[in-house]
Amino acid sequence: HLYNILQELRGNIRVFCRIRPNLKFEAKSCIEYIGNDGSLMIFDPCKSQNTRKIFQFNKVFGPATTQGEVYKETQSLIRSVMDGYNVCIFAYGQTGAGKTYTMCGSSNGSCEELGINHMALNDLFQISSIREDIKYDIHVQMVEIYNEQVRDLLAEDGANTKYPFVLIFFFFPTGFWLDIISYFDLLINYSNTLEIMNCSGNGGLSIPNASIRGVQSTADVLNLMKLGEKNRAFSSTAMNHRSSRSHSVLTVHVHGKDISGNTIHSCLHLVDLAGSERVDKSEVTGDQLKEAQHINKSLSCLGDVITALAQKNSHIPYRNSKLTQLLQNSLGGNAKMLMFAHVSPESDSHGETISTLKFAQRAS
Ligand code: ADP
Ligand code: MG
Repeated sequence: HLYNILQELRGNIRVFCRIRPNLKFEAKSCIEYIGNDGSLMIFDPCKSQNTRKIFQFNKVFGPATTQGEVYKETQSLIRSVMDGYNVCIFAYGQTGAGKTYTMCGSSNGSCEELGINHMALNDLFQISSIREDIKYDIHVQMVEIYNEQVRDLLAEDGANTKYPFVLIFFFFPTGFWLDIISYFDLLINYSNTLEIMNCSGNGGLSIPNASIRGVQSTADVLNLMKLGEKNRAFSSTAMNHRSSRSHSVLTVHVHGKDISGNTIHSCLHLVDLAGSERVDKSEVTGDQLKEAQHINKSLSCLGDVITALAQKNSHIPYRNSKLTQLLQNSLGGNAKMLMFAHVSPESDSHGETISTLKFAQRAS
């Protein structure tokens, strides 16, 4: 409760910066220093002139920060979902900067590596089991937004749609099948595309047609997330880099009812955004250009919404992208938002790092 009071005083938007460890040992780092107060100084070690820039966030996590330390700073925000607050957590940054690592952890499975998703759900289920005054029901939805289309990632049959094709694949030349597959891809994509509804208040679902699953434990959710990842992978025949080109949104819906019959409904959105890297328009064409334009547009719409909220504007431009429409009732009002700005420390990422930090700074 103290946290909630402090939060109100500070506003509902938080920005944390996370710098991943240097993965290329020979590469120079462009981090000059990390302050305890959330400041960060960046420079370009490959330029001789002074390129130092200072950024200020609510917190900066250096390369040595563990998953547990990151979660500790996020925990109270996540717990406030159980008190009826809507919460949105975004992972922003260029591909390879550590978004999925923060949200989903690393696949080697040791305890240290669990991501926010996992730790958050453990926490929510634990609170739900301890509290005797409120009875909680927890449901999840998982969707991806790709090229401004929303797709259900928990549809049970989605993954199997292409099995029959595999069997007769060998009877025809590959080129023929590539055409057929991309045609069916279009068809499947089209038929799986979901509408976003304008749900006022906390009661409604913004994508009523996406599968919604009741869950009793973190293990249940992790199984669903595996299904989601599988469905995501199956649609990527033509684009193997799909996961970095789409936004994935895991939504945890919490319903609570206390002894006197009062109810709460709140949700926690855990969003792994598409890579924010700028794509050189002279180097890509066709599908990749289209993807890049959609990503640019939706990330800049998200930036506009966050800026408008941070400046307490009266008009918030939610309607400009699917992502902001989908998250509308969890952005603004009483809702709490946290953005992790992920950066790579290597000097060859300096340009992208600066642009990520500038984007994130707009929010704080
Ligand atoms: P993104 O989702 O932004 O494209 P990933 O999360 O896939 O990036 O991270 C890219 C690589 O860096 C992965 O191999 C991941 O395990 C590693 N990595 C990212 N962040 C960290 C970290 N904080 N500590 C250790 N390894 C990390
Ligand atoms: Mg990723």
